[in-house]
Amino acid sequence: MAQKLDCLWMPFTDMQAFARDPLVLQKAEGPYVYDIDGNEYLDCISSLWHVGVGHGNRHYLDRIKAQLDGALTSASLFGSAHMAALDLASRLVAFVDDARLRKVFFSSGGSEAVETALKVAIQYNKIRGRGGDKVVYLKRAYHGVTLGALSAMGIEGDRMGFEAHLSREFIAAESPHCYRCPYGLSRPRCELACAKSLERLIAQHPGEITTLIVEPVQGAGGIIVPPPDYLRELHRICREHDIVFILDEVVTGYWRTGARFAFQAEGVAPDILVLSKGMSGGVLPLGATVVSREIFDTFTAADEVFMHGNTYGGNPLSCAAGIAHLEFVSRPEFAARVHALVGEFAAGLEALKHHDLVGDIRQKGLMAGIELVTDRVTKEPYKPQRPLALLARRHGLLLRPLGNVITLFPMMTVTPSALVDMFVRLDAFLHDLGRMSKR
Ligand code: PLP
Repeated sequence: MAQKLDCLWMPFTDMQAFARDPLVLQKAEGPYVYDIDGNEYLDCISSLWHVGVGHGNRHYLDRIKAQLDGALTSASLFGSAHMAALDLASRLVAFVDDARLRKVFFSSGGSEAVETALKVAIQYNKIRGRGGDKVVYLKRAYHGVTLGALSAMGIEGDRMGFEAHLSREFIAAESPHCYRCPYGLSRPRCELACAKSLERLIAQHPGEITTLIVEPVQGAGGIIVPPPDYLRELHRICREHDIVFILDEVVTGYWRTGARFAFQAEGVAPDILVLSKGMSGGVLPLGATVVSREIFDTFTAADEVFMHGNTYGGNPLSCAAGIAHLEFVSRPEFAARVHALVGEFAAGLEALKHHDLVGDIRQKGLMAGIELVTDRVTKEPYKPQRPLALLARRHGLLLRPLGNVITLFPMMTVTPSALVDMFVRLDAFLHDLGRMSKR
């Protein structure tokens, strides 16, 4: 095992620390995963926020197996289409259910789908002679790791080392972080100063800002849930200034926020919608960039080809998994279960508030962030002596802490008893942390 571990290089991982405390998983079922020594962990984060329908879900495996047994298994979308891609694209357009979002471009993950969205917007703006090509993103934003997506990285520190190679055309607006409001204001007197920061940037760069990319809830930035009307205000500003509005629902799509897509619940209409993560049930790599009919027609009218694509984007097996996902999450009982779970989740979170370390709990549907502080008045961020994920493992929890924020993404298929189990373990974990912080 030591020799095998020596050959693997994992994403975002301090490999020396990993070598000291390796976690090698062998088996998974529903929300529970097991390592090679047989230890059980409750997966509170749906793996990397992408296995929202439970590990080992038979519906997906059977659908992929049928594709393997009876139909095309390998083909790219270069110069030829195939039935699985046609089927998934048309079903996805129906599921998104927006009169404008009608054209689907497939890729193999979130970063690729974001990259696609940015390049569609850039080429679209060029075709229609819209001068300027600045892209606005938000502070605390996360849109992926490729150099384009990384140029829209708003999390402090996460660009380090790559700064010199990122695009100078990307500029940051304020994050809607009410708990740590950049203006020191509070709702509703703030009058959405964070959203208005986009208008200030537009005034500073007259005519130059052509694209905005945002997450409906900032995920990796610390689960920042914007105040009511925030997205609508951004949408209004984009319309007023003819700015392409890209909504990155890689994390929030497919019921994660309690709605099919966050944009529907918020009453906004993006020009481009970016999807990935859970869209294959978390079993195969898949991303999609859903583009408005108007943008697509502009390419056609100008006789322009979109010069972009990847070999594996929209491959038949991933598309079969994407179809399985639409079948699974379109069942009325799925939505009903999600709605019930949102309430149970909220109650569980509420019961954690008594821990002194808990400064803020931000929840949207079935995603939440618990921000840990050493002082609730000064909001001094809690700095653990040892990695929180490692401490959590002792309590049988798989967690993905982001700095001083513990993120929770329970599976949307979790049973009531497994959800209770999760909160019992979390309570013990926070109790332990509290005890350690007082030492
Ligand atoms: N967009 C958002 C909002 C994300 O959270 C992520 C990943 O976490 C991405 C894009 C990139 O997705 P991927 O890791 O599949 O490249």
